Amino acid sequence: MNIAVVGTGYVGLVSGVCLASMGHDIVGIDIDAEKVAGLQAGVPGIFERGLEDLLDTALKAERISFSTDIGKIADVDVLLVAVGTPQSDSGEADLSAVYAVVRAATVHLKHNAILVTKSTVPVGTGDVVKSLLAEGGRSDVRVASNPEFLRQGHAVHDFLHPDRVVVGADDAKTLEHMASIYASLAESGVPVLRTNIKTAELIKYATNAFLATKLAYVNEMADLCEIVGASIEDVTFAVGLDERISPSYMTAGPGFGGSCLPKDTQALLHTFSTSGARSHMVSAAVEANHHRRAALADRVIAAVGHRPELVAVWGLTFKADTDDLRDSPSIDLIRGLTNRGVDVVIYDPLVRELPDGLSAKVADSAIAAATGSDAVVIATEWPEFIDIDIEQLAVAMSGTTVVDFRNSLTSEPLNRAGLDHFPLGRPSSLADAVNESRR
Ligand code: NAD
Repeated sequence: MNIAVVGTGYVGLVSGVCLASMGHDIVGIDIDAEKVAGLQAGVPGIFERGLEDLLDTALKAERISFSTDIGKIADVDVLLVAVGTPQSDSGEADLSAVYAVVRAATVHLKHNAILVTKSTVPVGTGDVVKSLLAEGGRSDVRVASNPEFLRQGHAVHDFLHPDRVVVGADDAKTLEHMASIYASLAESGVPVLRTNIKTAELIKYATNAFLATKLAYVNEMADLCEIVGASIEDVTFAVGLDERISPSYMTAGPGFGGSCLPKDTQALLHTFSTSGARSHMVSAAVEANHHRRAALADRVIAAVGHRPELVAVWGLTFKADTDDLRDSPSIDLIRGLTNRGVDVVIYDPLVRELPDGLSAKVADSAIAAATGSDAVVIATEWPEFIDIDIEQLAVAMSGTTVVDFRNSLTSEPLNRAGLDHFPLGRPSSLADAVNESRR
C-alpha cells in the first residue's frame, strides 16, 4: 500500500520504517527541514534500538523517502497523521498540528483516500476531522483512527510485535482497508481489533490512564512499605503473579513522566470535565504523581540529613533507552534542588545538553559527576548504573549518600564501601530519613 506518514518524530518515524519493513511504500513528511534531510541521509535523529538499521534497509530498498512537501500525499491510499498533540495550558490536547494536516489533506489527498489519526487525540476528534473535510468539500476522504501503543525505548520491537493493533472506522469497508495494513501481523497471531472511531480514540487514553494509575498506586505502596518495614519488590512481585493483575508497570520510581502519561492523563481529565462525567481515579493518580515529583528534592535532602552543597544526578531522560527528556521527573528533581540552593551535576549516557532553564553542570561519566558530591541520586534506570564500580564511587564522592529512585543497586556492597543506600520501598530507607528530618 502507498502510505504517507505526516510527522516523523518518535511515533511517525518508527511507524514509517516498520511499515516499510512490512512491505508498504512510505513517504515520511515533516515540517522540520533539518530532520527530513537527516532522515533522507539515513540519520534517525532520535535514539531507538534497531531504528537506524531498519531506516537504512528501507532507504536502500527505496521503500521509504522523506520530504517537507505536503503535496507528496497526493499519490497515497492512506495518510497517517503522527504529529505531536502536546498539552495546552488548559490541560487539553493541542490539536493544531493535526488540524493543519487535515486542512492540507483537503487540498492534496486523492479521491477516497483514508485519513488516519495515529497521534493520540481525544474522543470526538474524528468527528471534527470529518467536519473539516466536509467544509473543504472533501467528504469523499474516509476517516479512521489507529492509536499507537509503542513504548519509547522499545519502539521498533513494540511496533513489529504489538500486544494488539486497534483500528477504528465508522464503515465496514474502511475498517477492512485499515486492518489490511496490518495483515502480516495478524497472520503472526497479533489481535487486530476493529471498532468505531470514538472507541479507538478512547482505548488509547484508557490504556495510558490505567498505566499511570498503576504506577501511582505502586509508588504509594512503596511509601507504605518504607514506613511499615515491608519490601516493595516482594510485594509487587507477588501481586504481579496474580493473573488478574500482570507484573509489568509494577516498579516503584520517582513518579511517571515522559511525553505521554502526564499529558494524556491531563487531556483525559479535560474530556471527563467537558463531557460532564466525573473522574475520581484518574484525577487521584495525577494528583499523587504531582506530589511525588514535587517531593523528590526534599527526599534527597532528608537522606543527606542537611542541605547538601553538591548533588550528582545520574539520568536525565524519563526512562532508560531513550533520549527523550519531555516531562522527565529528573527535571523536577534538579529544579527542586537548585531552587533550594544546591549545586547539581548531571550525567546521562545520551544527554550532553540540558533543556533551557535548567541550571546544572553536565559530566561525561557517572563517576565524574559523582566526584566531590555529597550525594548521588539514581534518577533513571540506565544499565550502566547497575554495573558501577562501587569502590571507585566511594572514593570519588565527598559524602556517603546514594539515593536510589530506581532501586538499581543493592545496599550491602554500598554499605561495605562506606556508603549509605536509600532505595525506594525497602525497610529502613528513605522513610526513616524523611521522618527524622520532620522531627
Ligand atoms: P514528536 O514530537 O516526536 O514528533 C512530532 C513530529 O511532527 C515532529 O517531527 C514535528 O516536526 C512534526 N510536525 C509537527 N507539525 C507538523 C505538521 N503540520 N506537518 C508535518 N509535520 C509536523 O512526537 P511523538 O512522540 O512522535 O508523538 C506523536 C503523537 O503520537 C502524539 O500524539 C503522541 O501523544 C502520540 N504517541 C506518542 C508515543 C511516544 O511514545 N512518543 C506513543 C504513542 C503515541
